[in-house]
Amino acid sequence: MSEYDDYLRNTWLEVDLNKFQQNIEIIKEKVNTRVLVVVKANAYGHGIVECGLTAEKTGVAMLGVATVGEASLLRKAGIQIPILRMTAFGLNEMESFIEEDIHFFAWTKEQIETANELAKKAGKKAKAHLKIDTGMGRAGVFAEDVGAIATIIQNAKYVDFEGICSHFHTADMPDTDSVFRQIEKFERALDTLKAMDIEPPYIHLSNSPALLRFKEARYNMVRTGVITYGQYYESDTELFEGMETIGTWKAKLVSVKTLPKDHGISYSVKYRTSKEEKIGIIPVGYADGYRRRPLGANEVLLHGRRVSVVGSVCMDQCMIVIPGDMDAKIDDEVILMGGQEDDYIDSLDIGDKWGTNNYDVFANISARVPRIYK
Ligand SMILES: *Cc1c(COP(=O)(O)O)cnc(C)c1O
Repeated sequence: MSEYDDYLRNTWLEVDLNKFQQNIEIIKEKVNTRVLVVVKANAYGHGIVECGLTAEKTGVAMLGVATVGEASLLRKAGIQIPILRMTAFGLNEMESFIEEDIHFFAWTKEQIETANELAKKAGKKAKAHLKIDTGMGRAGVFAEDVGAIATIIQNAKYVDFEGICSHFHTADMPDTDSVFRQIEKFERALDTLKAMDIEPPYIHLSNSPALLRFKEARYNMVRTGVITYGQYYESDTELFEGMETIGTWKAKLVSVKTLPKDHGISYSVKYRTSKEEKIGIIPVGYADGYRRRPLGANEVLLHGRRVSVVGSVCMDQCMIVIPGDMDAKIDDEVILMGGQEDDYIDSLDIGDKWGTNNYDVFANISARVPRIYK
């Protein structure tokens, strides 16, 4: 949701919340444990408030975010289930975690001490999930150092020991060795806690690829992100049966014009007509998250056929070549991402062309592209 939503535009991301709900229900049933739905980055572009409310209604245990602002949006919308802030943070953010009742990943003495002090002052409890670095090389304490930090959390009177967790770095790759090494380290951390008689309520390790592939890593909660939106993380993997894509990026043709042979198109003339060509304009540019490079990589669907975006994508619009035999006119629907008739433009393929992944593609559909809910 954004301040732009009220303005009319001829491009939009259509989001099917019924399918979102259905995807969550299928995941819940298949994993048979608690589910945290990750709604960071505006719910992977699909709209954090609408997706958050739908997830809460579907009975998930928690929502996962990356920033305090995201958590605030969810709280302002009336969402009451726990919210977990899942990334590294500055200590200056801690006060908001306590104010807004946000669970957070913690792994250092400074974090726990700050949390304890601020919670005491506020007359509240801070909610820490001990983060173990089992291989990612990002946030977290190493498995062999869990005892010391667990003692600090245990002794912090105003900090609740809510969870223990870690994150996979290769759960989507064919070679599973390092996944099992990570599970082993996580188990070692759990053993340490058990020996100390600490049993936090939430034990969670799996992201989307892991929850699909490794039953043994589900513990008592999974964190599901990209697949909840019906997006694959790899083209050769299968989601659970019945799960579907919830987002389709659409636009309308706003101009159709015939250009003579040898006419340049767009800035720096990176494309020139080779004969008389029918050129359409769609009102989508790089400021909407539709990238300019590599040149010539973009394709869209029009009347169920793939047509090429030609010339440089501009800030707010881009041009397509309409096949000579196609009767295309202004207001015809164009699909930038998703299906039309028998063809489908997959976010993974777009990611490949742009030299990135589909997470990046979705997360960067900009705020000025309205989200329309079905
Ligand atoms: C983003 C994130 C997830 C979700 O990852 P997906 O691959 O989209 O399922 C899970 N856990 C953490 C810690 C994350 O940051």
